[in-house]
Amino acid sequence: MGYAGMGKKNRAAHWQEHEQSADKAEKARSKPLKDDKAKAWRKACADYLLANRYCYDCTKRGYTSPADQVAHIDQPISQVKFWNIDNWQALCEPCFQRITEGKPLTVQEPIPKDAKLYTVK
Ligand SMILES: [Zn+2]
Repeated sequence: MGYAGMGKKNRAAHWQEHEQSADKAEKARSKPLKDDKAKAWRKACADYLLANRYCYDCTKRGYTSPADQVAHIDQPISQVKFWNIDNWQALCEPCFQRITEGKPLTVQEPIPKDAKLYTVK
């Protein structure tokens, strides 16, 4: 069967298949980006904890506990709230669990460094 024998319908199916596989490739490419976001957040937390070694909530109550988690003060519902260091607090594990109630964190897209919001000193 030559090319001429290939019906219009077959060609359409062929292109649809082609688009589907291109779509799949697109999805595979976007996956590492998600990991990059999580990685950026973990890195930011590690940097923040180097500068903020004690649990913020325990300190308020007159205790000193080493912090090992970072939580947001206001819900990080926007990119700015998420990455604004003024909205972060260092917490010990028990305080972190109590304050976040074990809710999973949705990491927002990092803000470019020149926006001067994500600056860990
Ligand atoms: Zn604490």
